[in-house]
Amino acid sequence: MAKKASSLFTPKKTQQYPIVIPRDKHTLSRSNLSSNAVKVLYRLNKEGYDAYLVGGCIRDHLIDMEPKDFDVVTSATPEEVHAIFSNSRLIGRRFRLVHVTFGREIIEVSTFRANANPDSDTSDSKATNNSLKGKDSARSSHGIILRDNVWGDIEQDAQRRDFTFNALYYNVADFSIHDYCGGLEDIQARQVRIIGDAGQRYQEDPVRMLRAVRFAAKLGFDIEPETAAPIKEIAHLLDHIPPARLFEEVLKLLGSGNGVATYHLLKEYGLFHYLFPETDDLIRSNWQSPSINVEAFILQGLSNTDKRLSEGKSTAPYFLYAILLWPKVLFRHEEFLAQGLPETPALHQAASYVLDNQVAHTSIPRRFSTPMREIWDLQFRLPKRFGKRAFTLEKHPRFRAAFDFILIREESGSDLNNLGEWWQSFQDADEKERRNLINQADPLKNGKKAPTKRRIRRRKPNTKRTSFDTTDSTQNE
Ligand code: ATP
Ligand code: MG
Repeated sequence: MAKKASSLFTPKKTQQYPIVIPRDKHTLSRSNLSSNAVKVLYRLNKEGYDAYLVGGCIRDHLIDMEPKDFDVVTSATPEEVHAIFSNSRLIGRRFRLVHVTFGREIIEVSTFRANANPDSDTSDSKATNNSLKGKDSARSSHGIILRDNVWGDIEQDAQRRDFTFNALYYNVADFSIHDYCGGLEDIQARQVRIIGDAGQRYQEDPVRMLRAVRFAAKLGFDIEPETAAPIKEIAHLLDHIPPARLFEEVLKLLGSGNGVATYHLLKEYGLFHYLFPETDDLIRSNWQSPSINVEAFILQGLSNTDKRLSEGKSTAPYFLYAILLWPKVLFRHEEFLAQGLPETPALHQAASYVLDNQVAHTSIPRRFSTPMREIWDLQFRLPKRFGKRAFTLEKHPRFRAAFDFILIREESGSDLNNLGEWWQSFQDADEKERRNLINQADPLKNGKKAPTKRRIRRRKPNTKRTSFDTTDSTQNE
């Protein structure tokens, strides 16, 4: 809790940085740390380099949260780190660093960096020549940092970090914590504060706006007014971030257990629009459809994901993306139906339309878009349970996800004729009960009118037929 931080830090009016908190004045000890991270720190020290733990692991410990990972920062260059650890590899171009692997655990080791002066940026060719010497930086015409590989010292490194609570360093040589930017005070005040001028720091890297709301939601902190002030106006800078990077950020934002809180902040600061413009347009236009209440559905999907994560269950990125894009799929589906397309082709075209538009904003690898399409497809197949279909559908590799999706639709107010309950009973039932359930759901045996199949008009035998496919809505069943 913040209590811990407050007990170890009392801000003075004219504070000199860094503030050094000795080992007996804080609660972070080696037993709280990943033993692999400690091994990396000691080894770097032994080789004569400075090495600290930095970022989320210190911050999270001070507010009594379980750190997600352990990041190390050192005076050694990536090549020097790589040479020390045989179990390591060099990664990244925009931001070069080293991954040291211990089984499934990866310790990320980066080199102290200085804020590259935008006026003295190297040109592309020079940048390549200088990259090994740590002078490799470049910016786009919008002022966005394209490469950030200018090495520096620990003080410079602190200044180029994003938020004050992320510029806390743990020194394994004497077990002290070094605070370079007032992070301890901000933890105590429970606020997210950017280091330096907010507008400029977002301009350099617009993803910092997303990180501000992510940390506010995760930590339950406020965004300090000056840190919050420019966001709405420059949220559009996110359009210049590569879709692959935004794909990853969305998973961290909405798929890490604080999806609902993060969604509200993304909406409040106008950031959601630059991640899911089509979904946001539907919400803003207050699109009314009997089949969905868009925002209620998104929130239900996010709260379901948060709940699963809090129970230690797994969640799949494709499920989250399927939720976030489903409203627009339905919208386009309705449009294509109105244009006279049969149900299944209308759905496939709607899915393609939505995915093609979305990848301009956040990429969606094919290994995710395929299961997303399957979940959407099953939304139209799960209601058709007659004969042997229920048994076949239940064996579909995406059945479980599609069933969960149905539950979320119902929980958010869509009337699907108790479809979720039926499928739950079907899964729980023995063979005999299953037959009964199928009979109850069969409109023919149940006295209801059977769904009308569109009639294929018979042609005269001598009529020349085109090769055009007239298959009707039942083609996919
Ligand atoms: P978590 O891992 O819990 O999400 P974290 O703070 O460790 O949070 P990482 O993405 O692992 O975040 O980054 C590690 C550290 O690197 C951060 O604490 C911050 O100091 C710095 N950092 C990361 N991204 C940026 C950025 N876009 N701009 C400036 N500094 C950054
Ligand atoms: Mg981290």
